[in-house]
Amino acid sequence: MPLTATIEDIKAYQEKVEKDKITSKDLPPCPRCNLDSLLFKIHAYRERRFLVIVEMLITSVYCTLVRFRCTGCNKTFTNFPDFAIPHKHYTRQTILNFGNSYVEDDQKTYETAVMTDDGVPENSDSGRALAPSTIHRWVSVLACLNIAYQAILAISLQNNPSSNFLKNLAHLAVPEKKYKTHKRKRCLLRCRWFFQVESFLESQFSPNLQ
Ligand SMILES: [Zn+2]
Repeated sequence: MPLTATIEDIKAYQEKVEKDKITSKDLPPCPRCNLDSLLFKIHAYRERRFLVIVEMLITSVYCTLVRFRCTGCNKTFTNFPDFAIPHKHYTRQTILNFGNSYVEDDQKTYETAVMTDDGVPENSDSGRALAPSTIHRWVSVLACLNIAYQAILAISLQNNPSSNFLKNLAHLAVPEKKYKTHKRKRCLLRCRWFFQVESFLESQFSPNLQ
């Protein structure tokens, strides 16, 4: 799992925005009125700051995201590139990498999860190191993303009724030393499910869900 999206990934997306190559056709239908996304119109362009890790330095890169508007009910949507997670500056790859490192290793603590083979990433301006509390928050973010994946998963399982996938999910566990409350235990479990669901969906639909 890569540690970060690269500056090149983000520049490539920016170039697509500038050449009007980002269209609404890959978006799902409007969740409010079910209008086909082909009938969405461009609503706005918003500049967003992303944080990538270059040689263990956390560096800002700016990229424009495109917002579309449903012409049926005026609801607006952002088209998120595959390196973006809504409301997060760090790239999807970074959040997945550190989240995975924590939840998939029973021995990891938040303090050890921030460490990579090359050290702890530091902010290139402030010199501040990536904080263990940030990984704690990312685990919660991934647990919520898992909920968003449920609908896609249900459809996928209908097409693969013989899959052992659900049986495997039922066996996932979290060691007691990783939580103090039942709420956090549920969150950690959902985060573990997230990684299972993601790799399952990836095997079904790749490369779009990477
Ligand atoms: Zn609509």
